[in-house]
Amino acid sequence: MNILVTNDDGIDSPGLWALAEALKRVGSVQLIAPDKQQSGSGTGVTMTRGGVFITEAQSRIPAVQAFSVNGTPADCVFLALRRQPKVHIDLLVSGINLGPNVGHDIPYSGTVMATLAGHFLHIPSMAVSLAVRDFNTEMQFDGAGRVAESLARCIDNGAIPTQAILNVNVPNIRPDMLKGIMVTRAIGMWYRPGSSSRGAVISDENKTARPEENTLEEGTDIWALSEGYVSITPLHFDLTYHELLPEVSRCIQGIRCEFDRIQE
Ligand code: MN
Repeated sequence: MNILVTNDDGIDSPGLWALAEALKRVGSVQLIAPDKQQSGSGTGVTMTRGGVFITEAQSRIPAVQAFSVNGTPADCVFLALRRQPKVHIDLLVSGINLGPNVGHDIPYSGTVMATLAGHFLHIPSMAVSLAVRDFNTEMQFDGAGRVAESLARCIDNGAIPTQAILNVNVPNIRPDMLKGIMVTRAIGMWYRPGSSSRGAVISDENKTARPEENTLEEGTDIWALSEGYVSITPLHFDLTYHELLPEVSRCIQGIRCEFDRIQE
């Protein structure tokens, strides 16, 4: 299986290389990542004059080709797919991000949104994040890598549906301490400054803005992480609010009449 690996923390992030190392056990891995930190870049693509360039990078893993791009994670995926149109990519994986990507973080997340370009082209895609709470503690990439490897095998043999982006978040604890794997829903998309799970984790002032863990709704991604479970949320991006179509249609009847009058 041909696996394309990217991230938003940049080509030097240890999470990227840990992910490539794990996925190499499943298939042939190609790595393409931003040349510097691009966290929070969401779906952003570079539109400035001069454009973006792809450069072959020094690989840390034998038989894994690596490239860096002076742009965003989405740029990386577009460029990777465009430069080798004849290569069939079977799986796109982004990560391992240093920090969780849950609920309200998701639309801003470069890690998760990097997979969108692949997802729209029907390439099975997943984003993997390590819920690092304290950057002074050891990063436990092993558990996250093993989960990514297992999911890649399931995708390869058709055991799990691939019409969704799998958003995987792994507690930063020793693999033998993980309680298990839960399929979750993303917590509500509300956002207020300081309420980002990442912001709350790394900044002392923000700690009070973080929802109390005992008030977290069971079955959500943040709840699973707080309980010590790996959280897997299938995401899809149909932006239309289908249930509201008839009501909006009714509401615009008046506007339509007025519009018709202007046109007469
Ligand atoms: Mn990041």
